[in-house]
Amino acid sequence: MTPSDDDALRRRKTALELDPETFARLGHDLVDRIAALLGSLRERPLTSAESAEEIRALLDADAPLPEEGMDPGAALSRAADLLIDHSLYNSHPRFFGYITAPPGPLGILGDMLAAAVNPNVGAWVLSPMASEMESQAVRWIADLIGFPHPCGGIMVSGGNMANLLGFFAARAAKAGWNVREEGVAAEGSTRLRVYASQATHTWIHKAADLSGLGMDAIRWIPTDAHQCMDMTALRAEIQKDVLAGHQPFLVVGTAGSVGTGAVDPLPRLRALCDEMELWFHVDGAYGGFAAAAPDAVPEDLLALRTADSVAIDPHKWLYTPLEAGCTLVRDPSALVAAFSHHPEYYNFGGATNYYEQGMQNSRGFRALKVWLQLAQAGREGYRRAIAEDIELARRFHDIVKERTELRPVSHSLSITTYRFVPEDLADRTDEEAVAAYLNELNEAIQNRIERSGRAFLSNAVVDGRYLLRMCVVNYRTRLDDVEALADISVELGLEVDAETRPADLR
Ligand SMILES: *Cc1c(COP(=O)(O)O)cnc(C)c1O
Repeated sequence: MTPSDDDALRRRKTALELDPETFARLGHDLVDRIAALLGSLRERPLTSAESAEEIRALLDADAPLPEEGMDPGAALSRAADLLIDHSLYNSHPRFFGYITAPPGPLGILGDMLAAAVNPNVGAWVLSPMASEMESQAVRWIADLIGFPHPCGGIMVSGGNMANLLGFFAARAAKAGWNVREEGVAAEGSTRLRVYASQATHTWIHKAADLSGLGMDAIRWIPTDAHQCMDMTALRAEIQKDVLAGHQPFLVVGTAGSVGTGAVDPLPRLRALCDEMELWFHVDGAYGGFAAAAPDAVPEDLLALRTADSVAIDPHKWLYTPLEAGCTLVRDPSALVAAFSHHPEYYNFGGATNYYEQGMQNSRGFRALKVWLQLAQAGREGYRRAIAEDIELARRFHDIVKERTELRPVSHSLSITTYRFVPEDLADRTDEEAVAAYLNELNEAIQNRIERSGRAFLSNAVVDGRYLLRMCVVNYRTRLDDVEALADISVELGLEVDAETRPADLR
């Protein structure tokens, strides 16, 4: 065909086409396979535990881009075979790792609907209904956790991005000069400083770096025995900076730390920020939604409602498919003030144009899965699911206490940390060689559990001790599953100990 072939262009059909009947057939088949997967998770191993070489061989990873395409049904079924039989399932009821939730089934369908309609939720005119549904989903999130109205907010990719937006909102609001125009090194400007505890998630490195402040601008405040920010140290650090001519602008409190679920003293942080006229941001990526179950959480957590900005992750405790994060701001104009530009090639009018409120321009409809799952479960559905997750982690803490070889270390929100300590070493944990061995042993146990496909854990390191860490952000997990985790920890723990214990500790 040549470009001048009018006839071919009039009857144009590209290699991307799928006629509606084929689309429906392929789609139904795929949905059937997904339904079978969801129905069989409990019986499946959690992971296929294959090596990178094995995975790459299965994929034929070095195969070149095909010159001619293949049958769409064959491509789809190959992708489904590869993924369904060779993945690690965070949907599994015994997935206790990191803070990663199983996706809600309705959200899975929501992502498909969002892709089908494909609204560009950067501008209202391009996504009239979707933009309004996103605004509603953001308002429902605020409602669920008791964040006051009116407020602003936007859906983003996850907690990192949600925190980053809060950081930039703070920078624009509190610099005291036009930092967006003149930059952080404007003539005569002072150095901006941010305060966060040592338990803060690593997003803050990226925020300090990308915002131009530099990572030296982060003042790492020590934590107490419960991993919570030390208020005396915080106040002293701020005063020291003021005396040195620097400019404090932001305090970050964490509502549920990623390691141990620690909750900073948020009411006292709010009071200090009021006194010093600083922006108060709360990282509630993990624990924010626990405010939906006020009877099950530490009271301090509820003060995230008083923050200037909050980062919160629907793909964690709302159990939506990846990706979904959300930034909430107390002042509805705070995000526009931090991100808006009006290029002359946009004629978007006065409604909510989300491109003005964050980093993205073209935006997908990630709010739909959130909207759907909130509609399905309602406030009460989420209150119960979250409270039960917390209760299961607490029960696990009790179960571990009863087992001779296991030692509970901490429980906060839905995270419990513990260790395997062989009975005959229990009185010697202060000895250097024993302490070093226990760290190696627990790391090896974590790896062994992970590879077994029977459960999945992650770890925390507190005061130099390697801890096993279980986190329940999983509506499929039941009491039997946490009981089984204790059994598995003992069984594999004894096995690894027998194999790896150095002779001088026998
Ligand atoms: C998970 C988490 C983050 C990062 O969120 P992503 O969604 O992984 O980007 C930040 N802070 C805390 C406290 C978290 O638990």
